[in-house]
Amino acid sequence: MNDILIIGSGVIGLSTARALSRYKASIRVIDAAYDVSEGCSKANSAIVHAGYDAEPGTLKARLNVRGSEMYPDLCRELGVPYRRNGALILAFSEDDRGTIEKLYQQGITNGVKELRIIEREEILQLEPQTNPEVVCALLVPTSAITSPYEVCYAMADHAAVNGVTFGFGECVESMSYEDGVWHVKTSTGEETARVVINCAGADSAKFHNQMSGKEEAKIVNRRGQYYILDHPDVLPFDHTMFQCPTKMGKGILVAPTVHGNVLLGPTAEDVDDPKDVSTTAEGLAQVVKACKLTWPNVSVRTAVTNFSGMRAHEVHGDFMVGKVCEHGYEAAGMESPGLSAAPAVGEMLEEIIAREENLEKKECWLPAPERPKPFNEMTDEERVEAIRKDPLYGKIICRCEVVTEAEIRAAIRRPVGATSLDGVKRRTRAGMGRCQGGFCSPRVVEILAEELNLPMTSICKGGPGSELLVGTIQEAMGKEAAGV
Ligand SMILES: Cc1cc2nc3c(=O)[nH]c(=O)nc-3n(C[C@H](O)[C@H](O)[C@H](O)COP(=O)(O)OP(=O)(O)OC[C@H]3O[C@@H](n4cnc5c(N)ncnc54)[C@H](O)[C@@H]3O)c2cc1C
Repeated sequence: MNDILIIGSGVIGLSTARALSRYKASIRVIDAAYDVSEGCSKANSAIVHAGYDAEPGTLKARLNVRGSEMYPDLCRELGVPYRRNGALILAFSEDDRGTIEKLYQQGITNGVKELRIIEREEILQLEPQTNPEVVCALLVPTSAITSPYEVCYAMADHAAVNGVTFGFGECVESMSYEDGVWHVKTSTGEETARVVINCAGADSAKFHNQMSGKEEAKIVNRRGQYYILDHPDVLPFDHTMFQCPTKMGKGILVAPTVHGNVLLGPTAEDVDDPKDVSTTAEGLAQVVKACKLTWPNVSVRTAVTNFSGMRAHEVHGDFMVGKVCEHGYEAAGMESPGLSAAPAVGEMLEEIIAREENLEKKECWLPAPERPKPFNEMTDEERVEAIRKDPLYGKIICRCEVVTEAEIRAAIRRPVGATSLDGVKRRTRAGMGRCQGGFCSPRVVEILAEELNLPMTSICKGGPGSELLVGTIQEAMGKEAAGV
């Protein structure tokens, strides 16, 4: 039995696990998926919002602003990319100007610093590719971008070196509390714990209702579709370019990524199935149409891929963070700005749970394991030195993103290492480029099989059911000889 069981290994569950790993308690994180960050934490706009958008007085506003303040130090500690590129929220009519003024006032009330309303001339000076029909904009210098799944991997590694254990492929079906013990029924058996924390994203309302015994929370699944463009020589925009928000969300944006790509999207469509992260021709066309207003020269000819993320929108509108029942806690309905708020959510739950459960701090909390500089960011001298120390740095596996064999093997050997092609892709960028793994996938499968000591036929793209190879030639020949 564990002291604490966290359901969900998205950015919220991981931030909470990492924060609580400072205490003398056995902590386990379980997830229905086969790796961390497989829910909406891997598929979003990657923006660390400053906090002007959330309604003053809400948990969303407080945790967003606090989380945004924590990000620079967090990313430094974890060795994860973070860039304060600033954001512009554009107004294209005098009606929109009213929205800009409201956002400015909200931002000031929420405690966001350095906000300014700027006019067309200054916008075009800052971002010459902007539609010249723009009227004014809210300039948000403290808005930033990060790599959301790298934040998750690094938090998981940090929690793991401090004793947190992980269980993947464990889908929670129900839970009950008897004689001081939580019995959590999963697809693979039962987990027991003294304390349960519900960070289950799309399923968080269901578990809130089971824990509270009341049917009071409800999640609407709101899908967002995106295009990712290949990294151009010169980024069209340095700032994250928003349009005015609507009741469905922050609207469709054009943004640089920390890896030098361009992100277009997301749509906001309510769908029934939380797992339906497909993209559609209509959705992607809507993305391009909306982006044209910001960037008249937009073209998706250099698109390397498209993808969808699923927002867990709780109908009452605010985050639900805190105690639900005796020894039961939650962070539910964590839609945007959940990525931005994540460090603050972890901090808040740490404070509440440590106090309520009388947790004692450890004498020693180990620092996050080092994350070596990616080969594609090294100078020539650094590359020579890396290859001298480990010749596998001299073997390029992914040509598009310039990822070496040394980095792929290291990603599999991390405390919470990659076990699938997608896991390698998001940890190293092998397969993220123009050919989308066309050239490097067979080699990555080989390396995974060697490192995990598994037959290549067991290696999956994501989890079980997504194996890349159906069998060996010898097996096929044997079947042929046997007339099968
Ligand atoms: C399109 C889109 C754009 C966004 N853009 C931004 C942005 O730019 N900035 C920002 O701050 N926020 C943004 N967000 C919001 C942000 O991505 C989320 O708030 C955040 O990722 C939520 O993290 P989470 O850990 O709660 O959820 P998730 O990452 O979904 O994690 C929940 C985990 O629980 C697991 N789980 C679910 N049910 C079960 C079960 N029954 N048993 C076991 N495990 C289970 C899932 O597999 C999953 O891994 C965006 C979201 C979307 C979808």
